[in-house]
Amino acid sequence: MRAFDFTAARTLPEALRLAGPGSAFLAGGTTLVDLMKLDVLAPGQVIDINRLPLHGISRDALRIGALERMSDVARHPRVYPVIAEALALSASPQLRNMASIGGNLLQRTRCGYFRDVHSACNRRQPGSGCAALTGDNRTHAILGTSDACVATHPSDLAVALVALDASVHLVSRAGERLVRLTAFYRPPGDTPQVENDLRPGELITEVVVPRLPWARHSTYVKVRDRSSYEFALASAAVALDVRGGVIREARVAAGGVGTVPWRLPAVEAALRGKPPTRAVFEAAAAPAADGARPLPGNAFKVTLLKRTIVRALTSLEGRS
Ligand code: SF4
Repeated sequence: MRAFDFTAARTLPEALRLAGPGSAFLAGGTTLVDLMKLDVLAPGQVIDINRLPLHGISRDALRIGALERMSDVARHPRVYPVIAEALALSASPQLRNMASIGGNLLQRTRCGYFRDVHSACNRRQPGSGCAALTGDNRTHAILGTSDACVATHPSDLAVALVALDASVHLVSRAGERLVRLTAFYRPPGDTPQVENDLRPGELITEVVVPRLPWARHSTYVKVRDRSSYEFALASAAVALDVRGGVIREARVAAGGVGTVPWRLPAVEAALRGKPPTRAVFEAAAAPAADGARPLPGNAFKVTLLKRTIVRALTSLEGRS
């Protein structure tokens, strides 16, 4: 780990004033410290933001403070099931107790080549190549990829939030803004090192989830190589508004398959106006992988994604 300056900010204005080129905000530290130890990240200044008043879960639209810990949010009674389940299926109990909501949304990819400073990786070192294209790409993305990068987005929480049309509230010295998560994350294109719309010195202060009462009827299904402390091979966040035996509204997003959390509007459209039957779910999931560019190691994800969506939709049956 390289040497760095450390400052604990006591207020939000102080944290924003301290932020500059080469600085990094520290919340739970579960990603940042990891990557600093590996020399993948080497900020010259680390600003501890844990004393900032970025806590709380409010009652109107669901607003979640960026410093809330994953485990606390997962247990909160106002949180929609799809969010709670995505959090509960993430990482390990110890990490969920430490990692913040803001940090979870900003976590870096788990591509092994990104974390190995001796491998070619356009995301870590632009222009150096992508070792995953010809290497081990079993866990990599099939949707939203480019010739420069095929890494998946690692956050389960982000998939649930994208399904619910959530936004992040961002603050910097230049002001504040609200950005929908679907616009916040950027597919790699020619610039895989630019992963999101966060500007220099900008901080996530809270997550805003629109009020959606029928999202109590939601769930998150995660398929992975082992049942704990593992990232998704494919996951599905689903919410259905079913009244009178008909699906009035649907939300579907996928994880483990896209370079960004992947909303599936074609699947949602195919569900609307139909009865919630397995046959309808299977037909609706059919276009989920349209546009996919599978690699030799991860072609299985095309089928796995569709089956994961059907499993998630089917598992909602019988839930109130
Ligand atoms: Fe780097 Fe992306 Fe290639 Fe992984 S997939 S080695 S993160 S460029």
